[in-house]
Amino acid sequence: MKPLDAGELVAIASSALATAFAQPTKGPTPASEGPPCTLGCSSCCYLPVNVTVPEVVHALKAALTAGDVIALGDRIASASDQTRGLDGSDRLRARVACPLLDTQGSCTIYDARPAYCRAYNARSSRDACDRLIGPSKGLADPNAVVVADPAPFDCAFAAQARIDRDLEHAGAESPHLDLTHALALLYAEPSTYKKWLQGHVDDWVRSW
Ligand code: SF4
Repeated sequence: MKPLDAGELVAIASSALATAFAQPTKGPTPASEGPPCTLGCSSCCYLPVNVTVPEVVHALKAALTAGDVIALGDRIASASDQTRGLDGSDRLRARVACPLLDTQGSCTIYDARPAYCRAYNARSSRDACDRLIGPSKGLADPNAVVVADPAPFDCAFAAQARIDRDLEHAGAESPHLDLTHALALLYAEPSTYKKWLQGHVDDWVRSW
């Protein structure tokens, strides 16, 4: 079977994301205690993001056309260096921002962001997100309670399941990767995705 190229991977990701997130959801969690997420509200961008290969190729392609490519490379390398080798709780404690987050707290690739970035949402206060997972360094505040709507997570799961199926039909593997580390490798060597589609992925790049 012919190997997939980067353009085909972008098409697979964008189609799966558009389809999954166009489905009607079950509606927001009724117990809303405050405003939903807004522009500049970016605490969830301090969490590790689970991505498929098409999603990370899609994201990097968008990032490369969005702005300063050299600054982007530096941010990606720095975020990857700061989080490489950290286990789950240390990674959360480090509170390292996604390298695709700009200084105003906006996603630089918003329209091309991966499935799980579309899933995170809050129906509780922004302050609770900031104290639990946001930029304040250190341990999460155990008293911070974040209420999220589960419906977008179902959409994210559906999008990634469809991508997994599309890759399987094309005869490729579909490892799930850590967005920051995958970006670092792909930025340094744009053909890296070919190895991933053959199942050759170093453990530190894999997601949960
Ligand atoms: S890709 Fe965008 S939305 Fe996702 S974590 Fe990074 S900055 Fe946030």
